[in-house]
Amino acid sequence: PVAERLSEKVDAIQKAQEIHVITHIDADGITAGAIALETIQRLGKTGSIECVKQLDNVVMDRLQNDNYELCWFTDLGSSIADKYPDIPKIITDHHACTSGSDVPYHLNPHLFGMDGSFEISGAGVTYLVSKSLNKTNKDLSNLAIVGACGDLQHRKFRKLIGLNTDIIQDSISEKILMKQLDISFFGRETRPIHKLLQYGSDPVIPGISGREDASQRFLKNLDIRLKQDTYWRKWADLSKEEKRKIISAIALLLFEKGFDHSTVKQLLAEVYVLCKEEPGTELHDAKEYATLLNSTARYGKHEVGLKVCLGDRDKWLKKAQNLLRGHRHNLLEGLQFAREEELHKKQYIQFFHAREAIRDTIIGIVTNMMLNSEDVDDSLPLIGFAYTENGDVKVSARTSQAVVNKGVDLSVALRKTARQLNGVGGGHNIAAGATIPKGKEEEFLELLDKEIQRQLS
Ligand code: C5P
Ligand code: C5P
Ligand code: ZN
Repeated sequence: PVAERLSEKVDAIQKAQEIHVITHIDADGITAGAIALETIQRLGKTGSIECVKQLDNVVMDRLQNDNYELCWFTDLGSSIADKYPDIPKIITDHHACTSGSDVPYHLNPHLFGMDGSFEISGAGVTYLVSKSLNKTNKDLSNLAIVGACGDLQHRKFRKLIGLNTDIIQDSISEKILMKQLDISFFGRETRPIHKLLQYGSDPVIPGISGREDASQRFLKNLDIRLKQDTYWRKWADLSKEEKRKIISAIALLLFEKGFDHSTVKQLLAEVYVLCKEEPGTELHDAKEYATLLNSTARYGKHEVGLKVCLGDRDKWLKKAQNLLRGHRHNLLEGLQFAREEELHKKQYIQFFHAREAIRDTIIGIVTNMMLNSEDVDDSLPLIGFAYTENGDVKVSARTSQAVVNKGVDLSVALRKTARQLNGVGGGHNIAAGATIPKGKEEEFLELLDKEIQRQLS
């Protein structure tokens, strides 16, 4: 059935001359959009692209008026799959969906019994269509892996699984990707080693996470050289022996503090190396690549991310790296803000309100980081609010796998609750978002609390 759906999409693309891509503003959206745009251009057709935060009425009304020959929705679109019959469209999305199962132009893993929160991403679904159009598009497979990592699809099993593994195989056979077992912390290519440990939070290392001095001392005690002249060594620079030494020492420390095997196992993960990219750059590691892309589109600079995905390694890469500095700063500041704000608890959820202090486009990332902090109770879903530019309230919700396993589905909860307040919402069971009118936050929390209670019973 997937193959059938794929060929229907292939036909639609082949028939059209001009195709407009509409995609999402995060790393998965950018990689999905880049794959779609490149696919269109390789066919000798005219492509255009736009990135949006969500498909609300404003966006949809505009698209309806624009009369595109064909709209290709990537990493979003499932929510409008059975609406807007006047818009000629194809959809390659992976968000939880309740309708649109019988429309042939709609491709989503949830329609085929797969879970789009970790088995394949928006970029992955888009890549499947691209590959069906032409096998030579397999060289775009690594972008789909970057997209999946951007959506944290590796988190549940410490590696990518499901259809993602087929895409990895394509990348490996194209010799553009290698998979390795390595430390799970972020920043293997670009973070000084002690910072990699300091900022690591999954798992938290007691006495080291969050502490620069302690992290440096810990490494020095192991005889690990932190610097070579003025150059701070990175994890990727270490020898196998050095890596093993550090990981064993952390494992020992965790055991001593009474943590069990499963925590210690979290130190290691499958990591994805884009082996044709320059070592020591963000592009060499799929997770770092994804963060680089998040630094562009989430700040309205999607063209920068797209250029990088499509091969620019000069001017646009530099621009992206500049944006990354700002993004990092904003995340740290956002996290600090959230830490200083007390988390308010209801019976089944907890929340904080950032108002103008955190951009609506990164409130989700901050909410996620907050929930994963050492001192935050992750047995209750965490809700972050922030104001948007046009006077609405952006809601981001994140929860743990354990809570999902008890029956909580944030995608359903946010969609339902937002709809009752004339907002829109959706996403995945473990991570979802919504936009609601300003002033409705209290009401939203009341309704959501009841809905989560219902889901748990
Ligand atoms: O648009 P959407 O699919 O782009 O984004 C997925 C979101 O789900 C990301 O923000 C990611 O952080 C979150 N996620 C998560 N934990 C997972 C899987 C996804 O927080 N295990
Ligand atoms: O924006 P945030 O990162 O919190 O979004 C989490 C997930 O919820 C993402 O997958 C996003 O695409 C989805 N979402 C949605 N509808 C919205 C807002 C977010 O489907 N209105
Ligand atoms: Zn996505």
